[in-house]
Amino acid sequence: MSRLLGLARRFQSILGLGIVAVAVALAMATGVLVPLEDGLATLRFTGVQRPTSHQITVVEIDVPSLRAAGRWPWGRDRFATAIANLQAAGAKVVAFDVDFSAHAAPEADRLLAKAIAQQPGTVILPTFVQPGDRADGRLVETSPLRGLSSEALLASVNVPVDTDGRVRRYAYGFGEADGYRQSMAASLANIANQRNDTFLIDYGMKVAEIPHLSFEDVYRNRFDPKAVRGRTILIGATALELGDEFATPQAGTVNGVYIHALAFENLAAGRALMTPPAWITFALACLLAWVLRVEAGAAYLRSLSRRHAAVGVGLLALPVLIQDLAPVSLSVAPLLVAQLLCLLWATRAELDRRAKSIVRAREASLLHLAMHEPETGLPNRRALLRNLETRLGGSDSDALAIVAVGIDRYPTMRGAVGYSLSNLIVRDVAAELQTLCQDGEVAHLSTSVLGVILRRPDPEALAADLRRLEDLDPGREVAGHAVDVFLKLGVSHRTSTDQDAEGLLENATLALDEARRSNRRLVTFDVGAYADPSLNLALMTEMRRGLWAGELALHYQPKLTAADGVIRGVEALIRWKHPVRGNIPPDSFIGVAEETGSIRELTEWTLDRALADRAVLKAAGHDLLVSVNISARLLADRNFCDHVSTLVSGKDHGLCLEITETAVIENPAAATAAIADFRAAGLKVSIDDYGVGLSSLSYLKLLDADELKIDKSLVVSVTESQRDRLIVKSTIDLAHSLGMAVVAEGVETPEVLATLTLLGCDAIQGYLVSRPIPLAELGPFLTAWRGDEAAGERAA
Ligand code: C2E
Ligand code: CA
Ligand code: CA
Repeated sequence: MSRLLGLARRFQSILGLGIVAVAVALAMATGVLVPLEDGLATLRFTGVQRPTSHQITVVEIDVPSLRAAGRWPWGRDRFATAIANLQAAGAKVVAFDVDFSAHAAPEADRLLAKAIAQQPGTVILPTFVQPGDRADGRLVETSPLRGLSSEALLASVNVPVDTDGRVRRYAYGFGEADGYRQSMAASLANIANQRNDTFLIDYGMKVAEIPHLSFEDVYRNRFDPKAVRGRTILIGATALELGDEFATPQAGTVNGVYIHALAFENLAAGRALMTPPAWITFALACLLAWVLRVEAGAAYLRSLSRRHAAVGVGLLALPVLIQDLAPVSLSVAPLLVAQLLCLLWATRAELDRRAKSIVRAREASLLHLAMHEPETGLPNRRALLRNLETRLGGSDSDALAIVAVGIDRYPTMRGAVGYSLSNLIVRDVAAELQTLCQDGEVAHLSTSVLGVILRRPDPEALAADLRRLEDLDPGREVAGHAVDVFLKLGVSHRTSTDQDAEGLLENATLALDEARRSNRRLVTFDVGAYADPSLNLALMTEMRRGLWAGELALHYQPKLTAADGVIRGVEALIRWKHPVRGNIPPDSFIGVAEETGSIRELTEWTLDRALADRAVLKAAGHDLLVSVNISARLLADRNFCDHVSTLVSGKDHGLCLEITETAVIENPAAATAAIADFRAAGLKVSIDDYGVGLSSLSYLKLLDADELKIDKSLVVSVTESQRDRLIVKSTIDLAHSLGMAVVAEGVETPEVLATLTLLGCDAIQGYLVSRPIPLAELGPFLTAWRGDEAAGERAA
């Protein structure tokens, strides 16, 4: 993949370079860059200036000369005089940029011819060349009169003019082989080669610095011979009316004679500027494009522009430097074009990259929003499902479980501590679950429910993790506040590979509902029991039928007084023996009865049954306190409470009502009112399942109860956990100080019994004494127990 990407990038880079190269080639071929190139060259002349050599002096046929002569063309005897004067002053060469091709006054012409012949080969006369139409490439030349030119040298005074009418170049000569004619400047500078190419005139040398004399002064021999001695003299027209003017890029309008003089200066000083061949310029442009090519990765626009600015300055400055060092005028326009294209290319690529990264970031944030709970920032249900799906696709041999972790009485807690702190608590719990489950991912499924995926190599490891979750310490400190948070766990195991994520999560949630309903810390999803929640209503119909049909009965579990080993009470626990489904545990239908409103009917039946059974026991000589469990839901039901009070009023009832601690915390007003009513009616009240919920000792103080039952979850660990022992101890002490007796539930071993006795526990209940048993077995059990007890006392 990355190799493919690399290839694609390289291809893009090559494509980009190709486009730049083609664009530069086209620009060069079509000549669109010429104005730019000329402009730059002109600029360079300001930068690179050279002094003139003072080897040439121009003799100007200026306005005073014309005026003095009185007419034009004037007699050529004037030129003869000038030649004589100049030669007398020591001129090396006298050259003319004056047309001598037409016959004029024969006498004057003869005088001129004589003056030329005076020093043969030192006078140069002008010719004008034009390409001829003959196939041999010979030039058509307009030459001076034969009589004049016989003793003179000839040189061309053609000035090549660019298409924009300006003079930038100067030719070394024209034509080839024996048709060759050297240019005036080349001839004056004694260039030996027969070159017919051109050079760029270096306007860095200033026309104004070339020494000059007025023709009239020369004619009248009124000049300083120093301006002439040993020098080359070029005579030409400067008077406006003679019209020998050319536009130049740098020096404004310049007379032809000065163009030749400047070209001579260039040649003499070795400043005839050459331009490198087009292919070199093109190659340089390509090289530059390669250097500036767009590389993969981020290019910060600022550094990009800095880099290009540096290159741009270099492109402008380097030719100036080179031109200063050597007579070379670089063409930079194609390089600038290459750079501009690279800049556009890079900018586009960078903007493109930024746009893409913005889109990517947006997508990521949308994904984050979609996958997280806004209040806690934790991954949400969707995230968990997605994660679960990938995990389900993994190794089948792994043991996998989904745990729905419910926070007990979350709304109450939120009411007490506020939204933000309760969110913090959820996050804190999530973090703890995360550390406990290491690679398990914790998600926030609903307000008070977190979800964890546990995946372990084997069922034992999984079970160990679940145990650790179950034993999580409720005490935590959140934002400086000490809070007890109790958790309930609903677990669903993957039992077959065709279970889908959604189904597994739903099962875990159902198991959690069950854990909450039955007040158990951990409930594992059981297909038989919770396969279809819609069966709940059917279950209640079944239950009502079962009540009439006598399928439901009460079993009794003894409560043993720890100090003397006497059984003084029993707890009534309901049992349902379904004709088809067998024994249905109370946890499976009490909760449903609460939810569906059948709980009152069931409880009233239980109370009647318990009263009746107690009467039977009493008749058999066993006077016991019978405890009946009262669902939290019923405490808010005034009618029910009144019903219970009337039921027992004025009777020797011997009833105790067990009310769960959580019921009190959930609705303290209703619970305290109901408890007060019950006690006023002579009923005993026991606070059940202490230690399961957000057990708060401070709540206990508000309650006016007779008994406190410590939940079996705290009891079983009382011998192992120092912390649980401390909780039990402090609970017992506080209960005693409030006048309550303490009963420990779920005592299964003599060690636990011993520890509890030591801690001051008043009574115990558990398998150690007896499982809950039917009424028919209870009488004989109690008799037997009494016998053992008596025997024990006798032995003692
Ligand atoms: P509970 O009120 O906490 O009842 C004690 C539970 O602990 C009983 O479970 C009992 O069988 C069990 N148990 C007693 N000794 C031990 C022991 O040594 N070890 C262990 N592991 N467990 C022990 P059961 O009978 O399954 O009842 C479960 C819950 O169902 C009860 O918990 C109570 O909340 C509810 N329940 C039972 N009967 C009634 C009833 O008539 N009315 C109402 N409202 N709830 C009832
Ligand atoms: Ca109970
Ligand atoms: Ca209990």
